[in-house]
Amino acid sequence: MYDICIIGAGPAGISSAVYAASRGLDTVVLEEKEVGGLLGGVSTVTHYSGIIEGETGTSFAERLKKQAESYGIEIRKEKVVSAELAGDVKKITTDSGSYEAKAVIIAAGTTPKKLGIPGEAELEGHGVGMNAAKAAKEYEGRDIFVVGGADGAVKEALFLAGYAKKLTIIHFEDQLGAIPEFTEKVMRTGNIELRLHTRLAELQGDGRVEVLKLRDEHTKETETIRCDGCGVFIYAGSTPNTGLYPELDQTDGYLVTDDRQMTSIPGVFAAGDICAKQVRQAATAVADGAVAAINAAAWCRSNE
Ligand SMILES: Cc1cc2nc3c(=O)[nH]c(=O)nc-3n(C[C@H](O)[C@H](O)[C@H](O)COP(=O)(O)OP(=O)(O)OC[C@H]3O[C@@H](n4cnc5c(N)ncnc54)[C@H](O)[C@@H]3O)c2cc1C
Repeated sequence: MYDICIIGAGPAGISSAVYAASRGLDTVVLEEKEVGGLLGGVSTVTHYSGIIEGETGTSFAERLKKQAESYGIEIRKEKVVSAELAGDVKKITTDSGSYEAKAVIIAAGTTPKKLGIPGEAELEGHGVGMNAAKAAKEYEGRDIFVVGGADGAVKEALFLAGYAKKLTIIHFEDQLGAIPEFTEKVMRTGNIELRLHTRLAELQGDGRVEVLKLRDEHTKETETIRCDGCGVFIYAGSTPNTGLYPELDQTDGYLVTDDRQMTSIPGVFAAGDICAKQVRQAATAVADGAVAAINAAAWCRSNE
C-alpha cells in the first residue's frame, strides 16, 4: 500500500509529488498522457516565477519530469478509470492495474472543450487541433485561424502568427478577453486580423480544411471563407475531469476543497485546475499541490 496516490502529472500533480516525497512518503503518480499536463502542450509558458527566457511547454514539462525523477518518484503511464474513496484505504483502479493508498490527491485538471460544429471531428488532426507548438511548422506560409479570445488563445495566436501568412482570431464577443500584455502585442503584429462578434459555425474539407463558415453574432449573417489546407486552432475553454468522483462535493463540476485542499471525503485532497477556485494558472496549480501534499502527509501521520 502507498502512502499517497496522485492522479495527474501536470504542474499540480508534480508539485504534490515532490512535496510528498520530501516528507518521506511512499508516493505513486498515475498519468494517462505525458508529464506536464495542459501546460506541457503550450507554445510558450508566461508569468510563472523563475521560468527561463523563451520557456516552452516542452522545456517546462521536461524540468518538471527531471525534478520528480531526482526525488525517485514513481510515475506510471496509466489512465485512472475508477476510484473508491470512502474507506480508510483508498482504492484507485487504472486501465492496467489497481492501487491502494492512505491518501489520494486528485490533480487531474481539465479537458479542452470542442465547439461541436459540423466538420470539427472529421478534420481533427487534419488541419484542426490545439497543439500550436507541435503543428505550427506544418502551416508555415499559410493562413491560420485561432478560435478563442482568452489569454491562452491569444498567446497561442501570437506564436502562430510567426508562421502564418495571415492569422485570423475568431472570437464571439465584441472584445478580446485577454490581458493587455497580449492584446497590445496583437495590435503591433501586422499579419493578425481580428474577427470579433463572430463564431466559427462549420468546417468543410476532404482530409484538410478547405472551407470555414463564420457567423456574425450581430447580423446573424454567414460568410464562407475558402482556403487551401489552412490551420484551425481551437481554444474554447475546458471542462473539469471530475466525472470519476461523483461522491465528492462539486461546484459547477469543479471539486470543492477546504484551506488544506481536502475534499468532502477525509484523506482525499485535490489540487490545480480541477478545484473550484477563481484563478487557474501554473502558479496556483503548484501552490495547491504543495498545500495538498503537506496536509496529506499530516493526514497519513495522524492515521498511522
Ligand atoms: C492554451 C493555454 C495556455 C496556457 N498558458 C499558461 C501560461 O503561460 N502560464 C500559466 O501559468 N498557465 C497557463 N495556462 C494554464 C495552465 O495550463 C493550467 O493552469 C495548468 O496546466 C493546470 O495544471 P494542473 O496540474 O492542475 O492540470 P493539467 O495541466 O490539466 O494536468 C492534469 C493532468 O492529469 C491527467 N489526467 C486527467 N485525467 C486522468 C486520468 N483519469 N488518469 C490519469 N491521468 C489523468 C492529464 O493527462 C494531465 O496530464 C494555459 C492554459 C491554456 C489552455
